[in-house]
Amino acid sequence: MTQPPDNASRQSAGPVRLLSFDLEEYFQVEAAAGAVGAGQWDSFAQRSPAVVERILELLASRGSTATFFVLGWIAQRQGDLIRRIARAGHEIASHGMAHAMIHRMTPEQFRDDAGESRRRLEDLSGSAVLGYRAPTFSITRATAWALDVLAEAGFAYDSSIFPIRHDRYGVPDAPRFAHWAVGPAGGRLVEIPPLTLRILGANAPVGGGGYMRLLPLAVVKAALNSAARAGRPAMIYLHPWELDPHQPPLAMSRLNRFRHRLGLSRMERKLQALLERYRFTSVAARLEEIRSNITERFVYGG
Ligand SMILES: [Zn+2]
Repeated sequence: MTQPPDNASRQSAGPVRLLSFDLEEYFQVEAAAGAVGAGQWDSFAQRSPAVVERILELLASRGSTATFFVLGWIAQRQGDLIRRIARAGHEIASHGMAHAMIHRMTPEQFRDDAGESRRRLEDLSGSAVLGYRAPTFSITRATAWALDVLAEAGFAYDSSIFPIRHDRYGVPDAPRFAHWAVGPAGGRLVEIPPLTLRILGANAPVGGGGYMRLLPLAVVKAALNSAARAGRPAMIYLHPWELDPHQPPLAMSRLNRFRHRLGLSRMERKLQALLERYRFTSVAARLEEIRSNITERFVYGG
């Protein structure tokens, strides 16, 4: 059933519902890394700009804003697009430079990678970059030093830690909602995890990507409603390539192809349905409120 956006939440600030897009190309995902090296990326046609234009129209028509975690590689090639996203009232945040998972970098390389992406994005958007999201949610217990690096570099928040059990990422016992994340050296910043549901004693991922493509929309709505009832922020994440079912197939393992292509044709309708039912904002638009309502802190690594 489609309902108009919640008018009460337009007048008061209402539940904190955050929408984010990791702005990268379909050929830059970790699942394609075995088939397409970073050195080959420039030989592919970029498909994300056209998808982002559709996303901007959709957001504008529904009165929602979003955070775009932009890959530096895209920013270097699509400056006008990044400026347009920022001018439309959305937040520009960092997704690193070249989509390297954090465990493949030293702390020094990571500091340089995050810092360079931030400088480039600030130059393009004209606004301070407050947030960071690691490629493939790759801040884990083993790479918790990245939190110290981000805090020291002055990032206000991170959205890279999935509180689930998964073969590539996740900290299963991390808090499910916004909290102070403390690194092994004591660095501290706001952590905003993707939306999960508590099912049978474990955290089930529901708030984006392949999970949202796979699950019935009712489950995503149930998680959004549950977070709102508890007065906690809900973070949804998507990738432009997930709204592009006609992207060329890439050489991948069967498992990776299944994960990458599952439900691509349904994702845009799911996003539309969520935007019809709820009003979303960028993180930046609600960050003060999120920060002042935090009661939990969690020490990672160390
Ligand atoms: Zn990514």
